Amino acid sequence: MFKKIALGTLLFVTHLLATSQVNIYSHRHYDTDKQLFKMFEEQTGIKVNVVKADASALIKRIESEGQNSPADVLITVDAAGLFQAKSRGLLQPIESQYLIKNIPSKLRDKDNEWFGLTKRARVVIYALGSNVPNELKTYEDLADPKFKGQIMIRSSNNVYNQSLLAAVIAHHDEAYALKWAKGVVANMAHDPKGNDTYQARAIANGIGSIGIVNTYYIGKMVNNKEASQAEAVKKIKILFPVFEKGGTHINVSGAGVAKYAPNRDNAIKFIEFLASKKAQKLFAEANYEYPVIKGVTASPVVTSWGTFTDDDISMNTLGENNKSAVQIFDNANWK
Ligand code: FE
Repeated sequence: MFKKIALGTLLFVTHLLATSQVNIYSHRHYDTDKQLFKMFEEQTGIKVNVVKADASALIKRIESEGQNSPADVLITVDAAGLFQAKSRGLLQPIESQYLIKNIPSKLRDKDNEWFGLTKRARVVIYALGSNVPNELKTYEDLADPKFKGQIMIRSSNNVYNQSLLAAVIAHHDEAYALKWAKGVVANMAHDPKGNDTYQARAIANGIGSIGIVNTYYIGKMVNNKEASQAEAVKKIKILFPVFEKGGTHINVSGAGVAKYAPNRDNAIKFIEFLASKKAQKLFAEANYEYPVIKGVTASPVVTSWGTFTDDDISMNTLGENNKSAVQIFDNANWK
């Protein structure tokens, strides 16, 4: 009899363990994340299920699923997406001393509903040997008419650009931001197209002389299995511009816990894992992102580009200014 109960309990516990899971809705588009999910599964026995789509599609989906949403964690590639999810009431405060203690306050939501997990800088690239580093120091300079026909940058529906413009608004005001956006549009080599890798290839091929990209795209071109990418990146260099009264523009990829998360504890465990030294090291080494916790350094490829000082604008501000940024892009006719 006792044996029977013990066996029954054992089977029940095993079943619980086997079905322990966490559902991730992610906008991240990197192969390294698969490795991270596997590491988490091995370490905790919690199964990771992933739905991948754009942040806006994921937010719409969580919203329409309502209280029955299976989403536990929302991961985006930019603070603005998390800010939006929070504004729509789709997230909940995360109770984690580890996250609060280790992630700088400007990289997380003021109510702890989301946390930045990796940093990326939005920088200027130029062709080796060009005079760009002598002529361009600030983000404000990008609108200077002396750069007419030289700038390569992706379209305005891209959230990285929206956050850059959100930072311009924060440093100046909306009127200045409109003037700046119009100035950059007037300086474009051609209408915006392609992602950040496209801009890097274009600079290597002499189309335009100033490209604007997130750092990790450049890192991923080095040692790329596509020889043409590895070759192209050898022809370009990175410059860390600053704001006239600030530092280099950064943004975060981060995560929040969904309001109706069916596996809330696992969700918090998962985000804490992504902020652990082990995971931060992988983000840095394999995806060329800047770690957010102390004690983990960027990859040698990334540190070879030099150092910079982060702009001190909070990620919360980038989220708050997103709507205005989208409107200003429209008014500036930035396609
Ligand atoms: Fe990206």
